[in-house]
Amino acid sequence: MSDEGKTPENGDPQNVLKETVLQEEILAEEARLNPEDTFKFKCHPGVTCFNTCCADVNIFLSPYDVLRLTERLGISSTEFLEKYTLLPVQQDMNTPVVLLKMGDNEAKSCQFLTEEGCGVYTDRPWPCRMYPIGLATSRDTDDGWRGERFYFLLKESTCQGHQEARELTVQEWMDEQEVDAYDEWGEAYKELALHKFFDDYGPLPPSKMEMFFNATYDLQKFREFVFGSSLLERFDVDEEFIHRMQNSNEALLHFGFLWIRFAVFGEPTMKVRTEAEQAVQDMLDTKKKDEEEKSTPETSPSTSPQKEAP
Ligand code: SF4
Ligand code: SF4
Repeated sequence: MSDEGKTPENGDPQNVLKETVLQEEILAEEARLNPEDTFKFKCHPGVTCFNTCCADVNIFLSPYDVLRLTERLGISSTEFLEKYTLLPVQQDMNTPVVLLKMGDNEAKSCQFLTEEGCGVYTDRPWPCRMYPIGLATSRDTDDGWRGERFYFLLKESTCQGHQEARELTVQEWMDEQEVDAYDEWGEAYKELALHKFFDDYGPLPPSKMEMFFNATYDLQKFREFVFGSSLLERFDVDEEFIHRMQNSNEALLHFGFLWIRFAVFGEPTMKVRTEAEQAVQDMLDTKKKDEEEKSTPETSPSTSPQKEAP
């Protein structure tokens, strides 16, 4: 399970910054762990607290969390976001915040919780995988966002898993929880969410925010945009990659990240097709010619060469 309120690192990276104080509090109290450090923990149906932690919690979802869950449930991202998430809006936020919506029963249980445990276990979100290991990263490095990584142990007083005798390293825990793909996508998303662009220009206007949201979280809408507009005619995208995007949400998400860099941050991650470039140039040339003609004084008919022609 998760204690994601204290492990925001892979949820919304902007939130990571907002949670800095919280992380500092945790790090001040808890020992920092390296991957090779050991801890004792085991969560299993035999513990008296089984399933109690999957209720009334704030779980921040990353784009990859949403991708995995939509594929698991066999529904579109648009439907998933409507049914299973909350999208809190704050005036000063740089990037979208997506929270897993708890059920409306008294305990506010996670909508995926079953009596046997997590009903989406193999596709559960990153925070649910990591608990009881928390991760904090420092941002203030030369390259901005790939800061030092700290692990620490989260100990909820009601969590009986800490009383179990099983000892393992932090790395063994992460391997067991299969967080590799989540970490890779999380790092790539952090590059976007902590982009220098936001330091220079501040939060995005609503239209760009919507573009950012669709290209990262609502892949159904982004798919409609990519394949239902002239985008692929205008930009030079490898045919094999287009084919992969048609069949794979991961490829589409990859393209979404490139698209944000181009369309939001103004980076040269997309190449305009030569034909499209030529069409734009032709259009500009025509426009220029028209303007020149308009500004040129009318020629006297008597001097017109046509008049002199036979
Ligand atoms: S997704 Fe699974 S592990 Fe995470 S809170 Fe819901 S039921 Fe628990
Ligand atoms: S042992 Fe901890 S993680 Fe497992 S069910 Fe109990 S409270 Fe949740």
